[in-house]
Amino acid sequence: MSHSMTELIGKKRDGGSLTAAELEWIIAEYTADVIPDYQLSAFLMAVIFRGMSTEELSAWTDAMLHSGDVLDLSSIAMPKIDKHSTGGVGDKISIPLAPLVTACGVAIPMMSGRGLGHTGGTLDKLDTIPGFKSRLDPDVFARQLDELGLVLAGQSETLVPADRRIYALRDASGTVPAVPLIASSIMSKKLAEDLDGLVLDVKIGSGAFMKDVASGTTLAETMVKLGRSHNTPVVGFLTDMDQPLGTEVGNANEMVESIAILRGEGPEDTTELTMVLGAEMLVLAGVADDRAAARAQLEAAVDTGAGLEVFAKVIDAQGGDPAVLDDPTLLPSADHAHVVAAERDGYVQRCDALAVGRSAVRLGAGRQAKEDEIDPGVGITVHAKVGDEVAAGDPLATVRYNTADQLNACLPVLETAWVMSEEPQPTIPLILGEVS
Ligand code: URA
Repeated sequence: MSHSMTELIGKKRDGGSLTAAELEWIIAEYTADVIPDYQLSAFLMAVIFRGMSTEELSAWTDAMLHSGDVLDLSSIAMPKIDKHSTGGVGDKISIPLAPLVTACGVAIPMMSGRGLGHTGGTLDKLDTIPGFKSRLDPDVFARQLDELGLVLAGQSETLVPADRRIYALRDASGTVPAVPLIASSIMSKKLAEDLDGLVLDVKIGSGAFMKDVASGTTLAETMVKLGRSHNTPVVGFLTDMDQPLGTEVGNANEMVESIAILRGEGPEDTTELTMVLGAEMLVLAGVADDRAAARAQLEAAVDTGAGLEVFAKVIDAQGGDPAVLDDPTLLPSADHAHVVAAERDGYVQRCDALAVGRSAVRLGAGRQAKEDEIDPGVGITVHAKVGDEVAAGDPLATVRYNTADQLNACLPVLETAWVMSEEPQPTIPLILGEVS
């Protein structure tokens, strides 16, 4: 049946509810290039202000999920669990977490995205490994998952094509930060992976789409509910993204930090988050009875090098050079370094994730426009985080850059990231809540 898009936009604008058939029609016609961008943008903006009912969100998510192929991974014997983060600055957790969890007996069909706005993307980080191929044919994807228990790939062209198109439109039309739109975007992609369970890392703070715990909780609850209605158990953690995660922000340098975490030599916060999210994956998979037992298994996978071994096999299978794991200098690096130093003695009150993320994009670690190339070797090392005591002249950050233009574009924004206090400052808790 055909509908009038103008009437449906008006219905949502005026606070009405759309039927499942109307929502399915919008997704199908937009994906088929019949509904133009300007009409869908207007509809999405109406959703930003009016929201969606539970029934509308479920129908919208289902329509997106079935806009393309859905994986059938029923032949994989291991339990299949994935983890997804809503996006942040310095968030490289998927890279160390996936091999450690697979080393403990869980299959992960991980499909990651590229950086978006000021947030980094796992795919851009993986692509810094010389030779690594993240585009895999579906049959190669399934075979590798069966043989190695882990695939680290980009979103395939045929899976949830509606989200790829709608996401690009949202990015360009100011319609990203709405709970129903984020929840349907993430859950349609994850439900298409044929999972037995999903762990969500919902980021909260200046560097995240959700700025406070209340809106993050609503997003997490919405995604948990969508999972439940599709028989997929989902556990959501709310975690801090007010300051960057770990010490490295960029691409190759985030890979170096990821390798350090796999070796048990990573920073405290990224190591802890890897353990918390990984432990939940093992419990959801049923390979550990509780979080303490799961954590012990993950720690053993670090100590024995079993996680690194899985990562080496995956890199090798996907055409990359596993020697980077022993010698991270084989990864791209930048030619020059510039230190941003503290101007006076004090305590760090704020280390703003958004400012660090934006300055990293200006440096060339992310894209200002969709078609931009990133510079894989540039990046920022964060030396001083909230609560740290620094003396005048101590380094707050080191910028690694290739051209003077990159440095000059980055510095004015980076230098606004730190706010100092003369009084001691409390540290920011990493885990802010949990929803299941
Ligand atoms: N990540 C997604 O995949 N979609 C969103 O809308 C936000 C974050």
